[in-house]
Amino acid sequence: MKVIAIAGSARSGSTILDGILGSFDGGFSAGEVRWLWQRGLIERRLCGCSSPLPDCELWTRILARAFPAGVDVAEVAAASGRLRLRYAPLARIRALHGIYDRMLTPLADVVGPLYQTISRETDANFIVDSSKLSTYLYILSKNPSIDLRVVHLVRDPRAAVYSAGRTKAQLDTTIARPMRPTSPGRAAVDWVAFNGLTRSLFGSNSDRYLLLRYEDLVAQPASSVRDILAMADVPEVANAAIEGNRVVLQENHTVSGNPSRFVTGPVDLVLDDAWRSEMPKKTRRMVDRITAPYRGAFGYE
Ligand SMILES: [Zn+2]
Repeated sequence: MKVIAIAGSARSGSTILDGILGSFDGGFSAGEVRWLWQRGLIERRLCGCSSPLPDCELWTRILARAFPAGVDVAEVAAASGRLRLRYAPLARIRALHGIYDRMLTPLADVVGPLYQTISRETDANFIVDSSKLSTYLYILSKNPSIDLRVVHLVRDPRAAVYSAGRTKAQLDTTIARPMRPTSPGRAAVDWVAFNGLTRSLFGSNSDRYLLLRYEDLVAQPASSVRDILAMADVPEVANAAIEGNRVVLQENHTVSGNPSRFVTGPVDLVLDDAWRSEMPKKTRRMVDRITAPYRGAFGYE
């Protein structure tokens, strides 16, 4: 089955793109599926439909049908924890693939039946997954039953770093815990690491990979989405949900993601460039220095 995966670094607009693609006939917006096990099933965070995920009728049915003999949630969640970037170099070095694959086996074993059942139970022609982490997409890419198409969504590093420094209320947990701000240095290093790894793992396969700048998505949502669907070989489908810069978001069953996934109805896409006036010059210089080796490749001079 076809999975359109959104890859890239944090605070790049992946949640809204997930919602836009999911508003198409035949699209199912699944959110950050890599968090299904830990945040969804163990921490009982909310599905996009506002039920705690273990109580969501759709996900309950999907899990029961995908794993009739049950599944060791703790084991899969532990393997998902090893997707963290610190292990990622293993995925880049061919000789170490074996070790990396063994660390992630419990996760690799469940993704085939999981996505197959999502597709069947939702009647989806394509599943949208905004997990972002390229190490997770690496697992999906190795599964022969998954036809993976990667949208690499990048955002101007200065905007991404500025956004990462602001707190945002988390709406999917009863514990008052805002999305934690990330220091500018850390956010800039993450920007390089996440985008660099995504590019090196998927960028050479131009039939199944599309680089999209967030700024272009906001300026021209309709044509950006058309490019994504063409890359994913999804036939043109009707969608009245995009008009100019306005998109209409539907209620969804997303697993994890930015709090904006709970927003439904019309949303105007507006470029947030507060960093231009708000970011201290010293911080901006540091971000410029750290991201310099990759910025040009993504069109940010
Ligand atoms: Zn739900």
